Amino acid sequence: MSEEERLDEIKQLLKAMIRNKCVNPPGNELRSIRTLQDYFAAHGVESQIFESAEGRGNLYARIEGTDPNHPSLTLGPCHVDVVPVEDPGTWTVDPWEGVEKDGFIWGRGAFDMLFIVACQAAVFASLVQEGFRPKGDLVFLAVSDEEAGGLFGTKWMLDNHPELVKTDFAVTESGGFPIAPSRYVFMVGEKGINWKRLKFRGEEGHGSMPYGTPNAVLKMSQAALRLSRYDPPVETKFVGDLARGLGLSRLTRFFLENKSLVPLAIKLSAKKDMGMAKVLHALTRMTISPNVARGGEKTNVIAGQATLDVDVRTLPGQDDEYVVRHLKRALGDLAPEVEIAKVPGVPTSVGNASPSQSDFVDAMREAVRQCTTPDADLVPMLLTGASDTRFYRDVGSQAYGFSLFDDRLKLAEITPLAHGDDERISIGTLRLTAEVYERLARNFLTYPEPAYQQSGFLTSA
Ligand SMILES: [Zn+2]
Repeated sequence: MSEEERLDEIKQLLKAMIRNKCVNPPGNELRSIRTLQDYFAAHGVESQIFESAEGRGNLYARIEGTDPNHPSLTLGPCHVDVVPVEDPGTWTVDPWEGVEKDGFIWGRGAFDMLFIVACQAAVFASLVQEGFRPKGDLVFLAVSDEEAGGLFGTKWMLDNHPELVKTDFAVTESGGFPIAPSRYVFMVGEKGINWKRLKFRGEEGHGSMPYGTPNAVLKMSQAALRLSRYDPPVETKFVGDLARGLGLSRLTRFFLENKSLVPLAIKLSAKKDMGMAKVLHALTRMTISPNVARGGEKTNVIAGQATLDVDVRTLPGQDDEYVVRHLKRALGDLAPEVEIAKVPGVPTSVGNASPSQSDFVDAMREAVRQCTTPDADLVPMLLTGASDTRFYRDVGSQAYGFSLFDDRLKLAEITPLAHGDDERISIGTLRLTAEVYERLARNFLTYPEPAYQQSGFLTSA
């Protein structure tokens, strides 16, 4: 298939998966998993579905390598589930129609992460069709359930079929954003999630005579305010590479390397680029965001109970003891009265990361250069949310967020697309992302004699 034909197939696949509406919960991801299997079958690609629950499953395919000692690579785990649309009225298009307009494909999941699913599937199919013979195995894995914790998707596959899906390397969502001229972010790790439920007690009494009666809602409000004003310790370890890769000015880099000057660096950056300021803030500390408040029963009854759910995100190396210690410090003299528990039903994860320098990272950088300009470079970053890469890192694989965006949107416009209104992906990004995965597979899996130099498959080289 030509590059143009492949791009057309990527668009069709992406639109079909948007229309499949695999909203998690409940997911019903088998719809899109079957769409992918049908697409593979039409191209003579053998694949296997593993059902992990009713209506849910994962799709696996493999190109066997010729050298069992050569490292293996997974395209994926790529998730086909999406988050709900709160209010379709705030979108400029129907979020479930898969509209193509103004050089973008619009719809829930277009960015997170159906476009990568479509690109990885199409690249895999085109490599099978041309008879690609890599040295190391190339695996394709599409999964369910990333948006609700991954227990029926990546985690399930690694627990139940590690012999099939555990590879040395994996590439998946959240990377490839242009962050400065010829500079693209790739994700080497992620922050941990440690959501806490704070419980407050008061005494019920008549609302007409509040004097002297402890009120749980008042305690909760005070606590929320204290948490929002608390500054957890600043850590500079995870912004150094970023600052260097971005080619930031010596002064800004100096600010970012000195813990006491980081707040100033963030303030200055906020004036120019709020998106960058948010990133710098999140990468230099544990963040605390009190987001769900519940309390009181009736307007004329003093609140006897209240709870506050707090979204806490930790850097690699910050454990549960660290979280609780700093929440208590933030609460101050309220701390002894507050019960701190987990938010039920939400798995806790610790921060984790893969190496930011290796042969594999070199192969990714080379692929980006081949697709863009010879001076292009990759900038390592931590994802502030959790993704399925943590399950791969848990079993000893190295996993990265890696794709390649064109310059239609700025970083500050790209990041709100995930789970946001008017989620969309540019056609240029589809083209670049497919190309970068194909180059990576050829560069890395045929190393040290890259097949792309001989095959002539890529005519744009
Ligand atoms: Zn995602």
